[in-house]
Amino acid sequence: MKTQLENIHMINPGHSYGPSIEEQKEEGNKKHICLPSGSLVAAAGFIWAGIEVWIGDENFGTVEPRSETVGIGFTGMPNIPEGMKLQQRIRKETNQEVNFLLGGIVVNGLKSNEFNSFFGEDSQNGNRHIHLKNPHQISVIPAYEKISDEDMREYLSNEIPLYLADGCKYGCSFCAANRSGIIDPHTGEPIVVEEKYRDPEILEKDLSYLVERAKRLGINSFDIYLSNLDIFQTPNKLLEFARIVKGIKASHPGFEIRMRALSGVQSIIDADKELPECIEEIIEAGFNRVGFGIDGWKGDWKRVGKGQNNEENCRESVRLASQYGLTPELILVFGHPKTVSEDSINGVRSYVHEMVDKYDAVPRPHVAKDFIPGNLGWLKPNKFQAKGIKQILKKPIYCQSLDFTAVASRLTHEDPILRNVLNGVYVGICEEYADIGATLWTKAYSDARSQAELLEFIDFNRGREDH
Ligand code: SF4
Repeated sequence: MKTQLENIHMINPGHSYGPSIEEQKEEGNKKHICLPSGSLVAAAGFIWAGIEVWIGDENFGTVEPRSETVGIGFTGMPNIPEGMKLQQRIRKETNQEVNFLLGGIVVNGLKSNEFNSFFGEDSQNGNRHIHLKNPHQISVIPAYEKISDEDMREYLSNEIPLYLADGCKYGCSFCAANRSGIIDPHTGEPIVVEEKYRDPEILEKDLSYLVERAKRLGINSFDIYLSNLDIFQTPNKLLEFARIVKGIKASHPGFEIRMRALSGVQSIIDADKELPECIEEIIEAGFNRVGFGIDGWKGDWKRVGKGQNNEENCRESVRLASQYGLTPELILVFGHPKTVSEDSINGVRSYVHEMVDKYDAVPRPHVAKDFIPGNLGWLKPNKFQAKGIKQILKKPIYCQSLDFTAVASRLTHEDPILRNVLNGVYVGICEEYADIGATLWTKAYSDARSQAELLEFIDFNRGREDH
């Protein structure tokens, strides 16, 4: 790796459930189009540091690298094999004359031997080796400017992620986000995290730019997925953001902005008591949908570090959202391998039926995986988890089995009876509520018993990108 980076080509790999580059050429194949927010924030940091940047996205088709350094951002485990495929193609086409700079939380959670095993020694963890200006204080506009009108039109016609805030004060053990309690693989110490917002003036400029660019491209509305892990965790900052969005809308009459985000169940209850204006005003600004982290049922919560949840606040948060006119989504990462029992699985099922019937909630179940890079199960695995990690390193396509949309598999859930009960309820909820937007469940590649079956699973999962 050159010590003095002069230029970089940031390339977004194809989505793990999107069509391959060959299939993209066929008429009618749905592409996965989503503005690569994390990579664009990094790109803005490079531009700020005087480094020349090109931006490409393999979801639109093959990208030929223009620099000796290629940056790849990873959004999660299922993304790793896609990034590896991209690396292999580039190595082949350039006779190995490219260095890779890789980023994303999932990359940070890998030990160095695992990182090298996946990505090779011509790769570096960009999060650790390149120090850029604090992303909270950088405008992303210079990176947006690098995107052609043609691609930008597609991005803005689909839901766009907006980097508003990051960090979560809670420490659920199954979660791989930037949260408290995550173990730094280098120091072995748990990290304490607080939610932090980006600079409000920069946010205002960035969002105004996106509205103006959309209007220039003939688009009169867009949908935003806010990056907050728990939208009501810092009410005064949320209120400040709501007023920014309202101001931008007032300057662009007729332009519609719709927003959604995740929330902890206790946070909306606290915000309703302490600063209800933050809920009222963010709704006036266009916030219309909120996904509550229910994540299992009683018996599960304390054992997975989610002691902030109880039956009462899981019901009250949904009732409150509905009373405010928001569509509540039930984000249910359940079936935690260490705590799963028929009681907790049945508790989840009854709760879902009750919330759909009473409040028109949208169930969004997912299956917990207890070893993912960044959590304790990955850092200090038990015998079963260590075997799983070994299998994944040997066959990286199995990274997909750690996707929370994938069913419980032999790789992730040891007990075959509970695995079957869990998958029955999980797939049952997804299918029963498919017409109102329940999760698009996926098959786990590690369960395929032959190459032919693996191809069948890949085919089944094609186009089932969760939203
Ligand atoms: S509350 Fe949500 S974001 Fe925060 S640690 Fe738990 S699962 Fe992760």
